[in-house]
Amino acid sequence: MKLRATTIDRLAQGTFDVLVLGGGINGAVAAAALSARGAKVALIDRGDFAGATSQESSNLAWGGIKYMETFELTLVRKLCKSRNRLIRSYPSTVQEIRFYAAHPRGLRHGLWKLVLGAWLYWLIGSCFTRIPRLLSRRTIAREEPIIRLDGCDGGFEYSDAYLHDNDARFVWGFIRGALDHGCAAANYVESLGARREDGDAERGADLHQAISVSFDEAIRGGQRAITVTRQEHCGACRGTGRLHVNESACPQCHGSGIVKSARGHMVFSKPCAPCGGSGRQRQAPCPACNGQRVHMQTEPLTIAVPPGLADGARIRVPGKGHAGRNGGEAGDVYVTVHVPAHAIFRREGDDLHLTVPVAVHEAALGAKIEVPSLDGPLRLRVPPGTQAGQRFRLRERGVASRDGHRGDLVVEVRLVLPKLLDERSKELLREFGRINAEDVRKELT
Ligand SMILES: Cc1cc2nc3c(=O)[nH]c(=O)nc-3n(C[C@H](O)[C@H](O)[C@H](O)COP(=O)(O)OP(=O)(O)OC[C@H]3O[C@@H](n4cnc5c(N)ncnc54)[C@H](O)[C@@H]3O)c2cc1C
Ligand SMILES: [Zn+2]
Ligand SMILES: [Zn+2]
Repeated sequence: MKLRATTIDRLAQGTFDVLVLGGGINGAVAAAALSARGAKVALIDRGDFAGATSQESSNLAWGGIKYMETFELTLVRKLCKSRNRLIRSYPSTVQEIRFYAAHPRGLRHGLWKLVLGAWLYWLIGSCFTRIPRLLSRRTIAREEPIIRLDGCDGGFEYSDAYLHDNDARFVWGFIRGALDHGCAAANYVESLGARREDGDAERGADLHQAISVSFDEAIRGGQRAITVTRQEHCGACRGTGRLHVNESACPQCHGSGIVKSARGHMVFSKPCAPCGGSGRQRQAPCPACNGQRVHMQTEPLTIAVPPGLADGARIRVPGKGHAGRNGGEAGDVYVTVHVPAHAIFRREGDDLHLTVPVAVHEAALGAKIEVPSLDGPLRLRVPPGTQAGQRFRLRERGVASRDGHRGDLVVEVRLVLPKLLDERSKELLREFGRINAEDVRKELT
C-alpha cells in the first residue's frame, strides 16, 4: 500500500518520457523494454494488470498459419520470426507444440494442398520447428486412436509454439521487469483523456481602455470603477475544454469506434478520432465554453488613480487582460486617462499656471490680492510698479507628483484698464499724465 501511495505520488508530480496506457501484454512489454533502455516510464491500467484480453488468450505464440490461405506471406514471415524469437528467449515458457489435423473429404482445400501449405509455412518459419508430417489414415489410427476417421482421407501434423504459463502471469513478469528498472506502474489508474499542448506557454493579450477623470480627480487621485470584458479560463472544465461524462457510446461513430469515408468507389475506414477508436465516450466538449477552454467574462475592476496624473497617462492593471494559453500568464489592462482642461488653471508638468487680472492702481501702487489655488484662496503681494505679464511663483502650490515633489503655482499678471465713464476720473487721469510726462515709447525711437 505504501508502494502504491508513493507511485501515485510520482505519477502525479513527475514528468515522464513515456506514459504507457494499459498493462496488457503490449503495454507490459513496451514498459519493460523502454525502462530497461533507460527511459523514464510510467505505466497505468484502469483495471488489473493483464485483466483484459491478455488473460483470455489461447496461450499460443502463433506464426500465422491462417494467413497462408490468403497468401499474406510477408505477414506470416514476420509472425514466424517473432514466434521463433519468443521460443529462443523464453525457452522454459514458450515451447514448440505440435498440432494434429485430420482432413475431412470434400473440405474446400484438398489434403495435399494443405500439406504443401504446412511445408511452406515451415520453410517461411526458417525450418525452426520440427518438419510437418503427412499422415495417412493408418498412421492416425495407430498414433491417435481417439480421432474419428469417418469421412477422412488422412491428415497432417505441423508445429507452432505455446505459452506454458498462465498468460496473465507472463504479462506480470514484464511489469516486474519494468518496475525493477524504475518504471512507475500503478493499476486502477485510468487515463480520462489527453491534450496536445501546442508550443510554449502563451501570454494572454493585453486589453486597452480609456477613461476621463476631472481635473481635480487627476490632481488628487482616487479610485475609479471600470468593467473589463475578458477571456477567462472556463471554470466548469478548469480550462481543459472537456468534461467527464458517464460512459456511453461515442456519438460520432455510434459506438463502432470506426468512421468510414468513401473515395470514388472505395470505402476507407479509420479509427474514430473523438473516441480514439474505443467507441466509448468518457469525455465531451465542455458545454459551458463549447470546448474553447475560455469564455468571455465581464468583470468590475476598481483601479487606483494615483494623484497628479497628467492627460494621456496610462495606468497598468496587471493580470486582468485575456487569459494565457498552455499555462501562460494573463495579459494586462492598460487604462489611458484623459483629463479635460481646467477653466482657470493651465498645467505644465507639475506647475500650475494662472492668469490674474490686476487693476492699474493695484499694479502701480502695490496691493495684497487674493488668488485661487488648489489649497483654496491664497494671499499674493503685488509690489508697486508691477508690469503686465509679470510672473510670481508661489512655491509648492502646484501639483503633487508621485515622487513626493510638489510643483509651483505661477501667477501671471494681466493689467485691467479702467473703463472711464465719468468726467471726474477722466480729469484725474489727464492730471496724472501731466505730472508723469515720461515718454513710454522712448526705446522705439
Ligand atoms: C479468445 C482469445 C484468444 C487469443 N489467443 C491468442 C493466442 O493464442 N496467441 C496470441 O498471440 N494472441 C491471442 N489473442 C490475442 C491477444 O490476447 C491480444 O492481442 C493481446 O492480449 C492484446 O494485448 P494488449 O496489451 O494490446 O491489450 P489488453 O490485454 O486488452 O490490454 C489493454 C489494457 O489497457 C487498459 N486500458 C484501456 N484503456 C485504458 C485507459 N484509458 N486508462 C488506463 N488503462 C486502460 C485495459 O484495462 C487493459 O488492461 C487472443 C485473444 C482472444 C480474445
Ligand atoms: Zn467514436
Ligand atoms: Zn469549459
